[in-house]
Amino acid sequence: MLEHVVPFLICPYCSAPLTRSDGALRCESGHGFDIARQGYVSLLPAAWRGDAGDTAAMVQARERFLAAGHFADIATTLADLAERATADAPGCVVDVGAGVGNYLATALDRSPDRVGLALDVSKYALRRAARAHQRAGAVACDVWHGLPVAHDAAAVVLTVLAPRNATELARILHPSGRLLVVTPTARHLHELVSELHLVEVDEQKPQRLATQLSPCFDLVDQRAVTATMTLSYEDVEAVVAMGPSAWHTDADEIGRRIRQLQQPMSVTLSVTIGVYAPLG
Ligand SMILES: [Zn+2]
Repeated sequence: MLEHVVPFLICPYCSAPLTRSDGALRCESGHGFDIARQGYVSLLPAAWRGDAGDTAAMVQARERFLAAGHFADIATTLADLAERATADAPGCVVDVGAGVGNYLATALDRSPDRVGLALDVSKYALRRAARAHQRAGAVACDVWHGLPVAHDAAAVVLTVLAPRNATELARILHPSGRLLVVTPTARHLHELVSELHLVEVDEQKPQRLATQLSPCFDLVDQRAVTATMTLSYEDVEAVVAMGPSAWHTDADEIGRRIRQLQQPMSVTLSVTIGVYAPLG
């Protein structure tokens, strides 16, 4: 667990600052959280019962697909925007729903003076995220139960194709910081959606995002990232296993449909990156 990220963390029970002693983080009220030997720390309350997020298989698929570079344009555009929009803001970079930590790692490469926090609920994802960058720390938490991050701690908050809790995102973001939100457009992976009968992107998504964020944030910039990816069977399997369809569709049935596709297949990448400033 990276020493430099600890000052940005708070106790999930009493919101007090945490300090590191031996192999654990502790608050002044005596709440303690062991650092896992894989390098991440769980700040989920002990009574927490919820969806544990991405499974080992989903995380493996994600890592394989991202390592092939198919989503690299998202990571570099995100890092560019983060660096330019927040040069003067103090604080760290927080990726909420960080997965294996690849977007955070690219952002930290561009911002050599900052440290980063990878937040996720999946321990399989966090084992990877803990090793994603030498200036990053990985923390288990549940976005819907409050983020164990101090007020105004972040110069940059990233949320990439992940759930968003607007009030919490606003609380942890410094007043001069920026929130960067990556959402799929209706064209994202549309060839696979129609061929494999996957879960479709909701057409109302832009409106829902605006409604969700407008009480706390102003949209100040927006960028489209579009590309045509050339995907093998393995790539298609991986991108399907990473996404929401992995939860909703029978794996054998999807595997059967994938083997009927032509290979390699041209598939559209289409996402929007919104840059948001917190309302004063
Ligand atoms: Zn405490």
